[in-house]
Amino acid sequence: MLKTKSEEKIAPVMAAYGRFPITIEKGKGSYVWDSEGTKYLDFTAGIAVLALGHVPDAVEEALKKQLDTLWHCSNLYHIAPQEKLAEKLTGLTCCDQAFFCNSGAEANEGAIKLARRYANLVLGKPEGHIVTFNHSFHGRTLATMTATAQEKIQSGFGPLVPGFKYLSYNDDASVQAIIDDEDCIAVMLEMVQGEGGVIPADKTWVQKLAAVSKDKGIPLIVDEVQTGMGRTGTLFAYEQYGIEPDILTVAKALGSGIPIGAFLAKKHVSELFTPGTHGSTFGGNPFSTTAGVATIEAFEKQDVLAQCLKNAKYLTQKLNDLKEKYAKKLTAVRGLGLLLGVETAAPAIDVVNELREKHHVLILTAGKHVLRILPPLVTNEAEIDQFIAAFDDVLKEQ
Ligand SMILES: *Cc1c(COP(=O)(O)O)cnc(C)c1O
Repeated sequence: MLKTKSEEKIAPVMAAYGRFPITIEKGKGSYVWDSEGTKYLDFTAGIAVLALGHVPDAVEEALKKQLDTLWHCSNLYHIAPQEKLAEKLTGLTCCDQAFFCNSGAEANEGAIKLARRYANLVLGKPEGHIVTFNHSFHGRTLATMTATAQEKIQSGFGPLVPGFKYLSYNDDASVQAIIDDEDCIAVMLEMVQGEGGVIPADKTWVQKLAAVSKDKGIPLIVDEVQTGMGRTGTLFAYEQYGIEPDILTVAKALGSGIPIGAFLAKKHVSELFTPGTHGSTFGGNPFSTTAGVATIEAFEKQDVLAQCLKNAKYLTQKLNDLKEKYAKKLTAVRGLGLLLGVETAAPAIDVVNELREKHHVLILTAGKHVLRILPPLVTNEAEIDQFIAAFDDVLKEQ
């Protein structure tokens, strides 16, 4: 029998996250303020969500208007901002149609379902599997956790969902394994493994994977939940690889912090989602898709991609200078655009804590010895200089 309610006084929120000991109360641009009024430079951007910074004016204005108009109506009716966002996203990508949901995991879950639908109805392989790669991260739902080839994410949650197989990333042997694999029904990958340590995919390897997928007639699924919406300097990272995904997922930065996700697909795949096949109560609702439309319009008006490239060049140069200065403490700088990883000899979490406590600067880790630096794309040289000075000081003291 399950125990009755605990009499012990415990925190009302489950302890699923290890949280830093501050409460964030306010944000604007690249800065946040905690409950004590302390101001922090936020180079986490809410984990790659706040491409335009906190509470960006253009999106705020659009959302305030939408608050007075319509919050929710369900997908039983047409939703104008949803249709507008789909038109924008399909106009800006190689895909023909979009489906909206509420998170990255849900976007990937939908992509997996769509690929399975294709395997069932077109390939005639209902028992096939999807290939994903070691150190990937695709989400925390049962299927996306199974797609995530990391023991630490899956451990203790068995049984896993059948229909996945893992191969190694950036490895030509994986290409051959897919060629030889009759039961592979789709290939799913990130262009830069974000959570897995900031590992960019090798361009020729990705092109080989795309060619093999095309040859076999199986969908190539690109998870751009983290790399999408300009993070790497192009709207989607796949553009830099000279390939075209058949299914593309996006979430984090799409709504500037309002929860939204989407998967997009080319017509030969997307047309398999006919009325009744898939759904989401909140997915694509008027509020979240208004945020999406306003975000993309701000990208266009403020030339956010150009800002990202300029800031990325400056920050990467400064990080490489630090790497030279502290060659024993910083062993690698890598990434794409403003998705940057720095390998540290010391535990990365120590650097993160020092930066926060002593300098009021927030960054992330991506593994035990990798710092992940994700400024808003619209940061500037002064903010980057502030971060670099703080980082320099922490490294000096180590
Ligand atoms: C964050 C992330 C996800 C999961 O997104 P959620 O919104 O947390 O569900 C999936 N894939 C990648 C590449 C991510 O970075």
